[in-house]
Amino acid sequence: MTIGASEVEGKFNEDEYRKVVKKFGASLIDEGLAKKLDHPLVPELFFAHRDLDKILANPKGFAVISGRGPSMNMHIGHLLVFKLVKHFQDKFGAFVFLPFSDDEKLLARGLEIEHVLKMSYENMLDMLAIGFDPKNTEVMLDLATLKQEVYNLAIEASSHMTVSTVKAALGFTDDANIGIHFYPGMQAAHILYPTKKLGVPTIVPIGLDQDVFVKLTRDVAPKMGLAKPGDILSKFLPGITGDKMSSSKPETAIFTTDGPEQIKKKISNAFTGGLPTAKEQREKGGNPDICVVYKYLKIFFGVDVRKQCTAGDYLCGDCKKILTEDMTKMLKEHQNERIKVEKNLEKFSPELGKLRDKFKK
Ligand code: SF4
Repeated sequence: MTIGASEVEGKFNEDEYRKVVKKFGASLIDEGLAKKLDHPLVPELFFAHRDLDKILANPKGFAVISGRGPSMNMHIGHLLVFKLVKHFQDKFGAFVFLPFSDDEKLLARGLEIEHVLKMSYENMLDMLAIGFDPKNTEVMLDLATLKQEVYNLAIEASSHMTVSTVKAALGFTDDANIGIHFYPGMQAAHILYPTKKLGVPTIVPIGLDQDVFVKLTRDVAPKMGLAKPGDILSKFLPGITGDKMSSSKPETAIFTTDGPEQIKKKISNAFTGGLPTAKEQREKGGNPDICVVYKYLKIFFGVDVRKQCTAGDYLCGDCKKILTEDMTKMLKEHQNERIKVEKNLEKFSPELGKLRDKFKK
């Protein structure tokens, strides 16, 4: 089952998440697995998986792959996924592979190569600013630094996928270009590259709406003599306005490159569970269960204001002030790391240094 865009935009509750996980044939992360993973957002945000328990127990270890179809800006929700990837590297010594599906973006949107590449480059800086270990991390931009081994894997994987399977899984129609129909083969190659290279299984942290790519890859991996990948599935994080976060709708998301004024403005317009007047809210309390500010404070900063909210001790302005201060500080630090990592791209590979020189000319 594929989750369509309209469902993604809908607000899932816990029951709906459980139903989707069951339909997908995935499993919820239980207490024991959560303990092993030892991450503050498991299982609150990263809540379900395929084969994670088996892969964590693999004596040879495992790798993590987290790709990105580039966009003009990355938003703060993306950072959470890459922070989880870094956690896997820090805690378990996992090799990290960060491929960019810029070729898919070009095929799907008809964009110019140079434009797509620039987006990949800028997004890459955000990802590397998280602090990955250059000795245990590989970055690949399909349109600039694609490896021969990855192309070969894509060809091999696509030889095991039929057009009818891909159309049924992804809803492609005959008027889509032929590159789009080939692309699941490339996605499978991204996912399986660390397995081919290191002989260990991979884990893919991924949103529910992207799980289908992992399923397709799990079907072809044994036919290629490779271990099936596992995944860790994420719930949807609402945008600051309460709608879906979208890079194309700037008001819905806080971007990694936003400055203090933009952050303040976006948070001041955030969707909350507050009541129409301060008097009412002091008397009855607010509703944290529908409040985006509550969710962001908890997810991004581990701050839980449920008691203060429901007791009417805090008004929405108080929470927005805390969130604005914490978010401004977090993004300032992130932006400083972004500048530092850009100067040192050669630590990851000489090709990335050349890309910087090209884009900074
Ligand atoms: Fe949300 Fe805070 Fe308002 Fe409660 S007081 S509804 S947690 S912003």
